[in-house]
Amino acid sequence: MAKKRVLITGGAGFLGSHLCDRFIKEGYSVIAMDNLITGDLRNIEHLFKHPDFEFYHHDVSKFVHVPGELHYILHFASPASPIDYLKIPIQTLKVGSLGTHNLLGLAKAKKARIIIASTSEVYGDPTVHPQTEEYYGNVNTVGPRGVYDEAKRFQEAITMAYHTFHGLETRIVRIFNTYGPRMRLNDGRVLPAFIGQALRGEDLTIFGDGTQTRSFCYVDDLVDGIYKLLMSDYAQPVNIGNPSEITIGDFAEEIVKLTGTKQKVVYLDLPKDDPKQRQPDITKAKTILGWEPKVSRAEGLKITYEYFKSLPKEVLYQRDHKSFDSYNK
Ligand code: UDP
Repeated sequence: MAKKRVLITGGAGFLGSHLCDRFIKEGYSVIAMDNLITGDLRNIEHLFKHPDFEFYHHDVSKFVHVPGELHYILHFASPASPIDYLKIPIQTLKVGSLGTHNLLGLAKAKKARIIIASTSEVYGDPTVHPQTEEYYGNVNTVGPRGVYDEAKRFQEAITMAYHTFHGLETRIVRIFNTYGPRMRLNDGRVLPAFIGQALRGEDLTIFGDGTQTRSFCYVDDLVDGIYKLLMSDYAQPVNIGNPSEITIGDFAEEIVKLTGTKQKVVYLDLPKDDPKQRQPDITKAKTILGWEPKVSRAEGLKITYEYFKSLPKEVLYQRDHKSFDSYNK
C-alpha cells in the first residue's frame, strides 16, 4: 500500500523539522515546505537522502500547489520569536492569515486533515492562571506582539469556520514555550539567548526583574502531543506544553549551573507587553489524548546544551543570519 502523504509547512524550522523526523519515522511520505526566512536547511539536511522526503521552497502566503494526494497537512510556518515579529511584522501577519487560508483551501481540495499551530500567545498577558483552553485571553492588538497574537487568533477562527462550514477535519494545537536542538541561536528567545551568552562568555541578560514566569516543554514531548492530537477526533483547541513553571531569574540560575559560566546576570528593561506569567493547564491533553510531558527540564536542557556546544563557532557569533527587509511587503 502506498504511504500516506503529509505536508509540513515551516518544515525547515525548529518544530517543523522535528515533525518531519517524526512522520518519516512513523512511515509517512513527507513534503516539507518552507520559504527559509527563519527556517534553515541544515535542520533537514539529513532527510534529503530519504526516498520518502521532498522539499518545496515556497512561501505559503502565496497560492500553494502540491501535486498528487495529501492526507495530512501540518501548518507550522511562522516566525515565532518576539524579535522576529519586530523585524518581519507583515510576513508574520500574512503567514498566519493568508497562509492559513491557502492551506485550508488545499486541505479542502485534497480532502486532507489539517492541524494548525496556534500558541499560548492567544492568551496574551493572561489574567487567568494556569491557562485553560476556555480562557479568551488578554491581548493588546496594536502592541509589538499583536502581529503574531492576532494572526494566530484569526488563524483559529478561520480554521474553525472551515470546520463548521465546510466540514473540514481540523485540529488546533496551542503551543506553549518549547525548547530543544535546532532552535535558532540568535532568535532572541530566552533559552538560546542565555546559552549563547554563556558560550560566548557574555553576561546573561534578564529582561525586567526576572519574576515573570514561563513553562518550558522539551521538543520531543511537544511533537508527541501534536502527533496524538492530529490522530484524535477532537476539533477544539488543545494546550500542549509542560506545566512545570519557573521564573526567568531561576531559569538563568539553572543555565549558569548547567554551563558553568563565570559571567554575571544583568538586568535590562522588560519588553512591552511581556506576559508576566504563563503555565498551561493540560487537563484536556491528558484526558482526551492520554498525553503528558515526560522529559524533565534537567534532562532536556542537558541535551539542548550539548547541541548548542556542537555548533560551528561562526554560528555562535552570527547575530542575524540574513536581511529581513524584503519580506515586509
Ligand atoms: N528574556 C530574558 N532575557 C533574554 C530573552 C528573553 O529575560 O535575553 C525573557 C523575556 O522577557 C520573557 C521570557 O524571557 O519574559 C521568555 O522570552 P521568550 O522570548 O523566550 O518567549 P516568550 O516571551 O514569547 O514566552
